[in-house]
Amino acid sequence: MNPHIQDFFKLIRSSFRYRMFTLMKLPAAFIAGVMVREVDENKCRVTVPFKWLTQNPFRSTYFACLSMAAEMSTGILAMAQIYKRKPSVSMLVVKVESEYFKKAAGRTQFICEDGAKFTEAVEESIRTGEARTVQARSIGTNANGEQVRIYHHLVIQSKTYIMKITFHGAARTVTGSKHLITLANGKKILLDCGMFQGLGKETDLLNRDFGFDPKEVSVMILSHAHIDHSGLIPRLIAEGFEGRIFCTSATKDLTTILLRDSAEIQEDDVKYINKRRGAEGMTYLRPLYTSEDAEKATEHFVEQPYNKWFDVEEGVQAMYTDAGHIIGSAAVNLRIKENGKEKHHIQW
Ligand SMILES: [Zn+2]
Repeated sequence: MNPHIQDFFKLIRSSFRYRMFTLMKLPAAFIAGVMVREVDENKCRVTVPFKWLTQNPFRSTYFACLSMAAEMSTGILAMAQIYKRKPSVSMLVVKVESEYFKKAAGRTQFICEDGAKFTEAVEESIRTGEARTVQARSIGTNANGEQVRIYHHLVIQSKTYIMKITFHGAARTVTGSKHLITLANGKKILLDCGMFQGLGKETDLLNRDFGFDPKEVSVMILSHAHIDHSGLIPRLIAEGFEGRIFCTSATKDLTTILLRDSAEIQEDDVKYINKRRGAEGMTYLRPLYTSEDAEKATEHFVEQPYNKWFDVEEGVQAMYTDAGHIIGSAAVNLRIKENGKEKHHIQW
């Protein structure tokens, strides 16, 4: 089940936002007055009015308008499962069939009750990386209860095999190394969390804004203790990171000492700056992080030996090899499996 499904329903159920949504995504449906009357994960009820715009020369509602309403009733149930989904999932209508029993005159209402089929197809496509075809049926009835049936064949395809690495810091400057790996399943792994140093006025700003949300990072791998690789760990935790931080045993000891030291420097610096700011009637700054934050960081460290693969996340393994840089330093080897197959091998 899509974790964002309730947000999607909120969007559809709120009338103004629904109008904006149909106007942006389905302008013809907006003009035809197609309305979603009722929706949950299993069922969707849509109505289309009988008005001059939707009338054909035979005084019944154009097939296109009926089809649009039917497609809305099946499509909304599919969209509910793929809305904001990670990895992203696409859908495509590949075939439409219809059976008529009576002319559609007056308001027609379409009901699709195939929501469970979409839930299953989307989950399976995400799990296997393969496309799934769903046949969803929507039954239209006029005011007299007379029927028209429209079948939509939709192909659901999850876009797996997408892994993204973004560089925050290291690629642009020599200090402040941070690499964020976003896995196909949406989980985020952070490699190092370094502090920027010596970049003048910009430095403080760069250190205060990660460029990503620490709460969304599930685990971190630390290569070595130097502050330009570890210095922002206390801030990462202060901003909501709750995961484990892998490192070698010597790196754990050394980083603990360096972060304590760094926190004291942050506090002293801010004290000094605030004295001046106070004298000038300006607001006080808060330190980048405090000694308390630095102490908390040490609780997240998980030691790992050299030359042994360990599990980082589901489908992700890492191994430290000696880098001969400073005590405890390591090259990090990563093996990433997606959909059961080894997809990426990274070393840095
Ligand atoms: Zn270093």
